[in-house]
Amino acid sequence: MQMGTNLPKVGSYNRAVVLEAIQVSDGISRVQIAERAGLTAQTVSVIVRRLLEEGLVFEDGSLPSSGGKPRTILRVDPTAGHAVGIHFDPGEISYVLADLAGQPVARLRTDVRPGLAPGEVIRQMAVTARRMLGEAGVPDGKVLGIGLACPGPLDADGAMHFPPRLTGWDHVPIKRLLEEHTGFPVTLDNDAAAAAIGERWAGLARATPSFAYLYLGTGIGGGLFLDNQIYRGRSLNAGEFGHITVVPDGPECYCGNRGCVEAVCCPSAIEATVRSRLAEGARSTLTGAADSAPGLARTAGDMPDGDAQGAPAGGSVDHSAICAAAAAGDPLAREVIGEVAARLADAAVSIVNMLDIDLLVIGGPAMREVAGFYRQVIADAVATRPLARRLHTARVEVSPLAADAAAIGAASLVFHATYAPRLGALLTS
Ligand SMILES: [Zn+2]
Repeated sequence: MQMGTNLPKVGSYNRAVVLEAIQVSDGISRVQIAERAGLTAQTVSVIVRRLLEEGLVFEDGSLPSSGGKPRTILRVDPTAGHAVGIHFDPGEISYVLADLAGQPVARLRTDVRPGLAPGEVIRQMAVTARRMLGEAGVPDGKVLGIGLACPGPLDADGAMHFPPRLTGWDHVPIKRLLEEHTGFPVTLDNDAAAAAIGERWAGLARATPSFAYLYLGTGIGGGLFLDNQIYRGRSLNAGEFGHITVVPDGPECYCGNRGCVEAVCCPSAIEATVRSRLAEGARSTLTGAADSAPGLARTAGDMPDGDAQGAPAGGSVDHSAICAAAAAGDPLAREVIGEVAARLADAAVSIVNMLDIDLLVIGGPAMREVAGFYRQVIADAVATRPLARRLHTARVEVSPLAADAAAIGAASLVFHATYAPRLGALLTS
């Protein structure tokens, strides 16, 4: 629970503390808000009255209290505002229309046609977002904005810089262009940070002060909430867990480092490992299973240096087929996924040692059928290897937001940017 302050000139901060306290609870009374946020009963009462008048929260029955009068339960009104969340992945674009409680009202996916110019891709995003709002009957006045989750690195002005799996997207001011095309404010973040914010607003980290999100998508990234604040770092690129070295002298990564988690654990690296072992004669049901299951879409240049490990060209055993085969007991798929889980666990132990967090969430579109297996291997490592394990053990959980984590997170970016209490705001005059 975020703590408020009873000093003057911090009204908007306290308002955000109260609103967030209501959102992250499953029903809360004014007295409970005051106790948990360290605010006076009078301050909470004044703020709640305004939130009720603005229609952002509503009273939902009451709970009996010991001795005193019954306590009225407060909840955020989901219909008070909406946001469109867009997750721009090199392979596809996912859209979610979410209500103020972060619950998806509508979902949509479109492919990214290889070679399409950035301006045209952004124009199509705008058209699709507008269409979703129209079909759902959400008027412009109820739209708080558009949240956009993109592959990093991103800069503070909302431009993409040399995203690793997209060609022609260098220095593209995607935030400004999408604002021009839609007429709505756009809040931009990288996909993993967006997923973390979604987990905070609408997922299983709603009441957890410090947690990390390990995001498995086309690449591997992360997001950080420390002491109830999102932590972004000097250039908005904190939490790049995918570039922790887990294989000394391992394959080169496009980032310039060697043996990164991403270089050995991302879907294209898993595919390359399986193909390489098939070529060496490993037994597997995956032999000849090519083309039977569509996987994560791949773009030209998808496999940088990590692919050059002797993997034969032409094999089309894809990541989704490998995960399905591992879940079905295929020996090669299980072996490779087991190695991947062990390397993810190595990274998780480093993350927990570094940050001393309460919770590690794992999620993203590359979790597929092996999510439970990854969770178990990582949880076992986090319970037995970090230095502070005897004092407390970080929980490891799979995101309930599943493959839409980044898109729901993108919508939550808007709610978070609009309503979340930020300590930085207190320090500016
Ligand atoms: Zn790297």
